[in-house]
Amino acid sequence: MPDFYRNADSHYQPRAQPYLDAFVDAMLHNQNARAELVRSNSLEREFSETTVPFKEQHASRDPSDKMKQPFWANYWSEPCARCDCRPPGSKTMEIDALIFLRNVSGKVLAVHVEFKADDERLSDDQARAYAPRAQCYLEGRKSRKGVLRHDEFMTVLLHGAGDTVVDLAEHFTKCFTHSDVLKLASK
Ligand SMILES: [Zn+2]
Repeated sequence: MPDFYRNADSHYQPRAQPYLDAFVDAMLHNQNARAELVRSNSLEREFSETTVPFKEQHASRDPSDKMKQPFWANYWSEPCARCDCRPPGSKTMEIDALIFLRNVSGKVLAVHVEFKADDERLSDDQARAYAPRAQCYLEGRKSRKGVLRHDEFMTVLLHGAGDTVVDLAEHFTKCFTHSDVLKLASK
């Protein structure tokens, strides 16, 4: 099971992979990039200094080391029977990337990442669906393999230049353009 796509034979999301990889790589290896993630939002005070429990997530998601894609990628999200984690009209089912950041006092922040290609539309219903789903994960309303217990969540959108996506930025904790994602590692 690879940590990243670059040496892997997974072609599951070829358009998204370079950007998801760059994002998670930056989070894993760069404290400044992690600080940038929470800058100027309500999480900044508690999570400006964090580590990444990467091995714990790996052990939880893929204990037998069988997955072809990285363990942080493509969490298939089964909606609960009675829950708002998949509102009507939203087709969102997968979390493109999910990683966790742990602060010095042991609190864990779940980072839910959605990737949109330049020409991919993001509907209003879809944009509204991310936070309720992340809240469902936080509260553990359903048992989900590979999801570490956490205390807070944030939703991140990696987007292209499309206006429809930019207009919906308010539904996410943080948004990065594709080119900004590639620059994150050098922060
Ligand atoms: Zn739910």
